[in-house]
Amino acid sequence: MTIDINHIREDFPALHQLVYKRPLVYLDNAATTQKPKVVIETLVEYYSKQNANIHRGVHYLSQQATVAYEDARCLVQSFIHAAHSREIIFTRGTTESINLIASSFGKKFIKPGDEIIISALEHHSNIVPWQIACEDRQAILRVIPINENGEIITEEFEKLLNEKTKLIAIAHISNSLGTVNPVKEFIEIAHKRNIPVLIDGAQAVPHQGIDVQEMDCDFYCFSGHKMYAPMGVGILYGKEKWLEELPPYQGGGEMIKEVTFEKTTYNELPYKFEAGTPNVGDVLGLASAIKYIAGHGMENIHQYESSLLDYATKKLLEIQGLRIIGNAGIKAGVISFLVGKIHPYDLGTILDKLGIAVRTGHHCAQPVMDRYDIPGTVRASFAMYNTMEEIDVLVEGVKKAKAMLE
Ligand code: PMP
Repeated sequence: MTIDINHIREDFPALHQLVYKRPLVYLDNAATTQKPKVVIETLVEYYSKQNANIHRGVHYLSQQATVAYEDARCLVQSFIHAAHSREIIFTRGTTESINLIASSFGKKFIKPGDEIIISALEHHSNIVPWQIACEDRQAILRVIPINENGEIITEEFEKLLNEKTKLIAIAHISNSLGTVNPVKEFIEIAHKRNIPVLIDGAQAVPHQGIDVQEMDCDFYCFSGHKMYAPMGVGILYGKEKWLEELPPYQGGGEMIKEVTFEKTTYNELPYKFEAGTPNVGDVLGLASAIKYIAGHGMENIHQYESSLLDYATKKLLEIQGLRIIGNAGIKAGVISFLVGKIHPYDLGTILDKLGIAVRTGHHCAQPVMDRYDIPGTVRASFAMYNTMEEIDVLVEGVKKAKAMLE
């Protein structure tokens, strides 16, 4: 099976619009993806017919919504190959998933003088929660450096490990440079010392098959909106043995077994970590997106996006003065670039007027930009619905902008 690109594009209404009288070329997929009709219809259907609060209601709608919500959990479980559905926690997104672990793990396991390791490639969402946890627990944040290509330096990582290291948190794929990190190797190294590893999978889940058991990560976090699902829903996967030990993140309805003023006992997994009325509609949208992706085959998507990356890299490098920031040996469909001395914001603004949506700036990874001593980059990031023709439009757009700005 291969990707039927015309068919896929038909599924995404947002792709068929004009921006400044030009056909939209949407290349900001690392920020968020557009949504296929099935996902949009799932939301309409849910709010038109099923909407009810779940788990507690005896009535028909509540029961229907509860079954659909728990079915979605099982679908996520099989999508990332988790051992149990109780290891799947619904959150607002990657950011909330990481904050949950930083807070709960921090409270339970981090003492003054302990260390947490992250890498120099991280998104702010995988930096700041750990800074907060370290400040709270008087612990120390250690950072693994990257090389000029934008790859984490494994030897430096090993040097940082010691008996005070309590947790390692690393991105699977860098959102700013596209580097695919050898997370399995890092996890193996960490586990030899019994150190748990959290993987920020926000940029990986839409682009390659994920098997959390094979990877053996302790926690894996991702967002629905970057994988064709609605905004406002995401996943925290955690190994049961850890989730059982961690204290709740938030208190409220749903996460309790019994409440008295003297003492409250907590619900079992996964509900212990899902306080309050859940985001049922968006969870069903996420389930719909997973079915959509799975229907096209993760391996097909991966291969197709790799061919987009190869083509775009080759074509962009033909432009004189263009340099790509981040040239890791293994990359996902993200290209960060600069042209001569042109400010990325100016380039992005002209591309926008040509109907081309790219991201400019630091991409919520300011330390990465500091590493290269640049204010930011222009970033084109691909999804399964992008085409080679769109890359040609991007390349022509960059040439035109260059001619205007230089
Ligand atoms: N980590 C990475 C690598 C990301 O790319 C992003 C989103 N840009 C996040 C974390 C945060 O995701 P969200 O804003 O959906 O919580």
